[in-house]
Amino acid sequence: VDEFDIIRRYFMPAVTRRADVVAGIGDDAALLSVPAGHELVVCTDTLVSGVHFPRHTPAAAIGHKALAVNLSDLAAMGAQPAWATLALTLPDADPRWLEDFAHGLLALAQRFDVELVGGDTTRGPLTVTVTAQGLVRHGMALRRRGARVGDRVYVTGTLGDAGLALRLQERASAHLQARLDYPEPRIEAGQALCGFATAAIDISDGLLADLAHLLASDRLGAIVEIDALPRSAAFLEVHETPGAGAQPAYYELPLSAGDDYELCFTVPPAHSTAVEQRLEHAGCAATAIGEITDTPGIRCVRANGSGYTPVARGFLHFGEDQHG
Ligand SMILES: [Mg+2]
Repeated sequence: VDEFDIIRRYFMPAVTRRADVVAGIGDDAALLSVPAGHELVVCTDTLVSGVHFPRHTPAAAIGHKALAVNLSDLAAMGAQPAWATLALTLPDADPRWLEDFAHGLLALAQRFDVELVGGDTTRGPLTVTVTAQGLVRHGMALRRRGARVGDRVYVTGTLGDAGLALRLQERASAHLQARLDYPEPRIEAGQALCGFATAAIDISDGLLADLAHLLASDRLGAIVEIDALPRSAAFLEVHETPGAGAQPAYYELPLSAGDDYELCFTVPPAHSTAVEQRLEHAGCAATAIGEITDTPGIRCVRANGSGYTPVARGFLHFGEDQHG
């Protein structure tokens, strides 16, 4: 296999073809037509083997995840995905690996009508960089800044599954493993939130770390009701609901393990019913987990009203004295 022909050979047969691609793979650069009244949303993410995914991860999962983490960022902006480019660094050009990788990436691209419009390959330790572009109606993008005191804090889906899969390794159930290897970008949910949510972010580093980004103002804080955090049945099979005593993993994984790729967003109380209906219509579960306050920092409380101090305090950038 000619290394320099990898993109052409493995990625040109992609199924997705968009009418707004004037020139895609095969020219010096892609030529893309942005529709009137829209803004271009651009993000990029790099996955390094052994850092962002375990070395034994199947090639198809790496391909899926490399695109999914970018689509997740587009979802957090409320954007409709459109195009992507791929920069692939490979230790060698193994045809079988490349076929599986391309299949994983292109299957997800097809589902969201994303056309791969360019790419590059080099030799080196396995590293995958995807740049994704999406479209949002002018002025309608979701942003990180915008939460207000009294807003409800929500998350989509369930939290802690990917972190639990990493912890269990080969003992993880199929559901947990799929949540780690094949994250589902919440595209429809993000679009349903446009015009309703005051702020949004996707959960890549863990709920506490990412929620802190929505509070990046010295006058905002949040209360997180940690017994209300959504946990999957597969998660609860491993970590049952704790009784009177706190069970660290039951709380810590949903609070601090990364790789969930769910959305965390804030909604004014007057919009909460509308938002819940819109998300249900989008086929995405969402759970209210807390509230924005005027006391800086994130305060975790249990259902019985007692405070909880997260073990992973290192994620919290400010207001740590709130947790003492
Ligand atoms: Mg993000």
